[in-house]
Amino acid sequence: MCELGQSKAISITLHMALGRQTSRYGKTKAERSLGKYLNDPRVPWRYKRREMMAIARIIPVAKWLAKIKERSDVSCTLCKRAREQRSASTENLLEETYGHINSAFYDGMATTVTAAHHFIWRHLHASMQAVQTPASKLRFVTPDKESSMSTLWQEEEFEQICSRELLTEKAAEIEKMISVKEHGRERYNFDPTMFYKNRFWNRRPDGIVINKNHRTLYILEFKRSSDRN
Ligand SMILES: [Zn+2]
Repeated sequence: MCELGQSKAISITLHMALGRQTSRYGKTKAERSLGKYLNDPRVPWRYKRREMMAIARIIPVAKWLAKIKERSDVSCTLCKRAREQRSASTENLLEETYGHINSAFYDGMATTVTAAHHFIWRHLHASMQAVQTPASKLRFVTPDKESSMSTLWQEEEFEQICSRELLTEKAAEIEKMISVKEHGRERYNFDPTMFYKNRFWNRRPDGIVINKNHRTLYILEFKRSSDRN
């Protein structure tokens, strides 16, 4: 099942699955880099094979297996297992699609996603600092891993620019728009206002930038747009 050979049919599917926007070379940037990857003799065949299966949408995830009648349940098996291990509810599981198992919402990918996040963020952060001019007067604060908004706001410098009360008020408007995850539902039902307040103060921002002249604080958070939540 789901075996892939290096056939012509695959390259047609590949072509169709990639965007239509082509450059003057007749190929999109994505196609060119994918072509490079698939033709690279250093890349093991099993990686190339998996890549092609993903593009052809035949990765044996639950959604695909259900489509070919090999499974009836499309909910994510690994999220279920992870939730069972921490004795959490296994209701409302997300569908096990290729997109899901590559997203930050996939329990089985948590460590990898976090590592990728930190790696890219370090580069972004360094780049932002590097393009500063002496006139920009920005100060970059890199919170350590344990710093939550709550511990950060014990700094007088922050408190002077934006008080806890004012920030709580402003944050509440935004927190209300962010969905409540399964493991927080019980606390949310108990007291929604308190839930949003606590969730905000427990957040661990990726960075903070201070512009003392303008009395502005920028709270930085780095996320893939597909993982925005
Ligand atoms: Zn899952």
